[in-house]
Amino acid sequence: MPEKKIIILGAGLAGLSAAWHLKKRGLGGAVFEKENTVGGLCRSKQAGDFVFDYCGHLLHFRNNYTLKLAARLLKGNLAQHERNAWINNSGIFIRYPFQANLGALPRQIAMECLLEFIYAAKLPRPVNIQENFLKWINTTFGKGIARHFMVPYNRKFWATSLNRIGCPWSDKFIPQPSLSDIIDGFLAGSRNHFGYNANFWYPVKGGIDRLSRAFEKEVGGISKGCYVSSIDLKKKEITIKGRGKERFDTLVLTIPLPELMKIANPLPGKILKSLKKLRWNSIFNLNLGVEGSCQDRKHWTYFPQKETIFFRVGFFHNFSNNNAPGGRSSLYTEVSYSENRPIDRKKIVKQVLADLYRSGTLTKKNRVSVLDVNDIKYGYPIYDRNYFRATTAIKEFLSASNIIACGRYGSWQYLSMEEAILDGRRAAGEIKLW
Ligand SMILES: Cc1cc2nc3c(=O)[nH]c(=O)nc-3n(C[C@H](O)[C@H](O)[C@H](O)COP(=O)(O)OP(=O)(O)OC[C@H]3O[C@@H](n4cnc5c(N)ncnc54)[C@H](O)[C@@H]3O)c2cc1C
Repeated sequence: MPEKKIIILGAGLAGLSAAWHLKKRGLGGAVFEKENTVGGLCRSKQAGDFVFDYCGHLLHFRNNYTLKLAARLLKGNLAQHERNAWINNSGIFIRYPFQANLGALPRQIAMECLLEFIYAAKLPRPVNIQENFLKWINTTFGKGIARHFMVPYNRKFWATSLNRIGCPWSDKFIPQPSLSDIIDGFLAGSRNHFGYNANFWYPVKGGIDRLSRAFEKEVGGISKGCYVSSIDLKKKEITIKGRGKERFDTLVLTIPLPELMKIANPLPGKILKSLKKLRWNSIFNLNLGVEGSCQDRKHWTYFPQKETIFFRVGFFHNFSNNNAPGGRSSLYTEVSYSENRPIDRKKIVKQVLADLYRSGTLTKKNRVSVLDVNDIKYGYPIYDRNYFRATTAIKEFLSASNIIACGRYGSWQYLSMEEAILDGRRAAGEIKLW
């Protein structure tokens, strides 16, 4: 029987993991990546003496398989950290998660949050509550926590109306302490161990891209600098810009689904319509290398208030002291935007810098020595009311064309790095040889 030709589009973690797991099955797959380095969002940059990632990229393992795999690939170059994350609530620092640390708030606000939580906990929980994120927040946490943190922060983060989006991912990503935990946080103040990201792992040396590079080394033969400019669904053939065509029997697709509108043909009207319905936010990421120390041992801080342009600032030098030279600090800022809430690209860097100093995140002694901009077009897929119908139609169509949708943007889901790796494993396992 002639060997089936398998092609993997994209060498982010999902594509790399699919190729790695295929190899483990004794199969070959040709991987095409448009950039000159592998990793997708899991890449890093050397900027002068600083190491920057694309915003913060920290490994949170829920699964022993992925932890073992990452540790093996990184050959010991992996350290575990206990989260040290904060919320800057108009100048008052509260440990993250807000809902478990009410004691750090001014008494009146803390009481309001606690009493509203108790009131909400007594009400019956509507079915399908995850279909409306705003209702989910009010029902889960009460109107106090909603008003003082959850709603303003998430409005900023999603850059879209919370009434119009669902949150099937909420149980996975949002810590939901019990009433006794909340009372404990109200009485005792600072507590740390809640949620999926209470601990994280990060390479000791080099940025997060050490993981992608380790995958690349074991997979071998990845074609980089290869932009796939068309997918002929009838002929089962891809065109690589400037390099010709390649035929496939099965295609593992990890590139963002909306890109199919530009490169896949023919697309039936119903699928084109579904693709047009997909929505996402984008992340403008400004990384900085600065003189002096800043923000003690904090890993990252959330900024819920409207007046501050970024929603989060994190500190690379506290993930690994190899990320910044001695006596200096490195940080990332994240601004979310969307078609409903655009950013002004001419002003944004100035606005971010002004807010860093205004909020006290940087002080006069932190003179900026390096700036690095990453405009991340596809940030977080938005689960609006069209999401399930559109993604189901698209994936069924792709599957009928022998295309396996995979990864955060190929499967169009809110996935972490760990989940992208697991999704690559799933895709490799789904490929049939006959
Ligand atoms: C701002 C932000 C912060 C995040 N922080 C974390 C975190 O702290 N922890 C965590 O676990 N997860 C985090 N994530 C999620 C994590 O980045 C993703 O789950 C994971 O990296 C996705 O991998 P992927 O392979 O699915 O997609 P990608 O990394 O996007 O890979 C897709 C690849 O396809 C390539 N490609 C696209 N089009 C073409 C084309 N036409 N031809 C050839 N190649 C193409 C791209 O260049 C890219 O390399 C974060 C995500 C964002 C947006």
